[in-house]
Amino acid sequence: MPDILTPMKAIRAKCLDCMCGQATEVRLCPITDCSLYPYRMGHNPKRAGLGGKPPSRVSKSPSPSTQPTTYTADDNGEIL
Ligand code: SF4
Repeated sequence: MPDILTPMKAIRAKCLDCMCGQATEVRLCPITDCSLYPYRMGHNPKRAGLGGKPPSRVSKSPSPSTQPTTYTADDNGEIL
């Protein structure tokens, strides 16, 4: 039984077949009115930035706002 491809992988395989297996030729495809053209690189440009891995956590370094604040008080304890 042949492998079942996702739609994007099937389009990519079609485009590679169309261009005799040359990935560079698929990238440079001049047939912009082909209905597969936007998907020829194997991904949907309308989904750019969607899905995939969640963004990694950014390591937090102490910012100046988290540093202890030093107060100066007068003789009556009022903060200056
Ligand atoms: S976009 Fe169309 S013409 Fe271009 S490589 Fe794919 S199938 Fe062929």
